[in-house]
Amino acid sequence: MPVSGSRRSPGSQVLVALVAAGPLSRAELGRRLGMSPPTVTRVVRPLLRSGAVAERPPRERSGPGRPTRRLAVVEGSAAFLGVKLTENRLYAVLTDPLGTVLAQEDPPLECTEAEAVVALIATVMARLSRRAGRAVDGIGISLGGAVVDHRLVKVATFLGWREVALADLVSAATGAPCTVANDVRAFAYAEALFGAGRDKDPFALVTVGAGIGCGIVVGGEVVPGARGAAGSVGHLPVAEGGPACEVGHAGCARAVASTSGIRAALTQRLGREVGLAEALGPGLRDLPEVRDVLRRAAGATGVLVGTLIAFLEPELTVVSGEGVGVIAAHRDAFDEEVARLRHWAASPAPIVLRPFEFDEWARGAAALAVKRWTETVDWH
Ligand SMILES: [Zn+2]
Repeated sequence: MPVSGSRRSPGSQVLVALVAAGPLSRAELGRRLGMSPPTVTRVVRPLLRSGAVAERPPRERSGPGRPTRRLAVVEGSAAFLGVKLTENRLYAVLTDPLGTVLAQEDPPLECTEAEAVVALIATVMARLSRRAGRAVDGIGISLGGAVVDHRLVKVATFLGWREVALADLVSAATGAPCTVANDVRAFAYAEALFGAGRDKDPFALVTVGAGIGCGIVVGGEVVPGARGAAGSVGHLPVAEGGPACEVGHAGCARAVASTSGIRAALTQRLGREVGLAEALGPGLRDLPEVRDVLRRAAGATGVLVGTLIAFLEPELTVVSGEGVGVIAAHRDAFDEEVARLRHWAASPAPIVLRPFEFDEWARGAAALAVKRWTETVDWH
């Protein structure tokens, strides 16, 4: 079943609203979702029966009327495994339906053959499940690559994969339903469900790091694009006269603002290998050559975000990823480009930089599994 772009069942809409907003009364649910009181009652009944939703005591007694009981997702009703695959490590978290992390681990990926990766996912799932004392109701996997129908990895160059039916392989090995998606889109969905993007529509997430990408959420759904390539902004030209990326674009976003692009520019300017953390540290950050490289990266990201805002005008744009520290350090260079691209009549659009932990990627993958669960739980 498609996780994005599908028309959600009423039960799924109720569950997603309760995950994102927290406990709500039936009347509040009805208002949010445009459902009549009898419809809310009918939709909620099987959710209460399934144990996914429970009634909570009212917040307070206000006025003489009968206090309203609120409905909430039951934290202990399900658990999900989120996995982010990188070329040398697997990041895994076990979460509850509200995105709270119950257990996590990040073992190295010693072999990138699909069979070996699937076996490792099954082992990690068993370990985390044992450690948290919870059975796993669904698995979400995210990776930097093109994914079709949330099951088939079309291409993942960093793993050397082509046409790998990952969801089916993992389901066969674990017995749990599995959903696969592009990592940036999964992260964007998680931010819209559990994070800063809640109730923001449209919402956009731009990530800078090993890669550069963008996830767009409209009406609570991540926009996948006609063939799964929406948000592939990494090779857009953003810096005139900039260095070239691995496929030869001069001044594209990857060349100027990705971790490897920044590292290559620093190495060239300083005559030795310099990483991002060192460049941002007190020893180097004030050197003119270092400032130059980092400001150009921050400005290039500003061009991307300013362009995105011109096309979409998100209610909120979050910028995150391993490279967000560069933008934080040179926010003025970033803001200048965003302002330069703003239409003269448009109001400034809110942009938040989000400090980044690598496990956020895995939590993003878990959000995929939560979403799939909301689409199936009311069928039981
Ligand atoms: Zn490029």
